[in-house]
Amino acid sequence: QKEEWKKLKNEKTMTADGHHVELAANIGTPNDVKGVLDNGAEAVGLYRTEFLYMDAETFPTEDEQFTAYKTVLESMGDKKVVIRTLDIGGDKELSYLDLPHEMNPFLGYRAIRLCLDQTDLFRTQLRALLRASAYGKLAVMFPMIATIEEFRAAKALLLEEKANLQAEGVTVSEDIEVGMMVEIPATAVMARQFAKEVDFFSVGTNDLIQYTMAADRMNEKVSYLYQPFNPAILNLLNNVITEAHKAGKWVGMCGEMAGEELALPILLGLGLDEFSMSASSVLRARSLMTRLNKSECEAIVEQVLDMDTAEEVVDFLSTTFDIKK
Ligand code: PEP
Ligand code: MG
Repeated sequence: QKEEWKKLKNEKTMTADGHHVELAANIGTPNDVKGVLDNGAEAVGLYRTEFLYMDAETFPTEDEQFTAYKTVLESMGDKKVVIRTLDIGGDKELSYLDLPHEMNPFLGYRAIRLCLDQTDLFRTQLRALLRASAYGKLAVMFPMIATIEEFRAAKALLLEEKANLQAEGVTVSEDIEVGMMVEIPATAVMARQFAKEVDFFSVGTNDLIQYTMAADRMNEKVSYLYQPFNPAILNLLNNVITEAHKAGKWVGMCGEMAGEELALPILLGLGLDEFSMSASSVLRARSLMTRLNKSECEAIVEQVLDMDTAEEVVDFLSTTFDIKK
């Protein structure tokens, strides 16, 4: 089986009925790029930049960040690299950033909220990203967006720093895509409005499931409620993808669900354009995709969206596609 997968390494991901989907990989550091290329991923769908900050004693400088981003972009060549701006707070802390203790850190001061408040810190990262954009195919993605105003404010800062750099004579790519993560239910519900403003969405199911089900993703006591296949989640995904496509925008997924075998047929049927997973899952997923018919998967979407429970969905998908959960 592994030998079969290896043959797919340099292939595009095509379904049995000839549709292309993009299989991308998630990375945490520039060192992970080797695994991405070795496993034949078509892009980097999520570069979690917080590790650059978490692995340091103090805030990484603009030059340090530029070097890291440039390394990844250059190594990926003409393949797309989606870099997510700082997603700190919640479960991720920085030893050198004194954040107030919060009752509900996952509902608190984190990610884009912190970046839009401490704009010096954010501007430094944006400048590093913009400078690196000249070396590859960059897409910038903002985490934990809850409102349209936040997206506009983040994008405005990006454009401001772009103008500043250009005035300084620095080369910046003119084709940077600017998108956002969909991990707060409000944004999934408001996908129609957001779709007018973004270049793309990437669904962060790890957080989207936690917030939709109000079940802490780390708490074993409530893990039974952490249900990727709950029809509530699937209906939110359907809304995001439908509205994005109406506006001509693409949708990726970079949460764990994108790499789950049982989820692939339904995500394909929903029309997901890009699946970003751990590099080691890419070839297995590509192999499964080559056996799936997109039209067949589309035909079962309505049925699944109308089901009552996650269990019903899981049973149906595993028997229909002969995949174990
Ligand atoms: C997510 O929430 O699904 C996601 C990809 O982000 P993280 O796991 O880093 O919170
Ligand atoms: Mg998240």
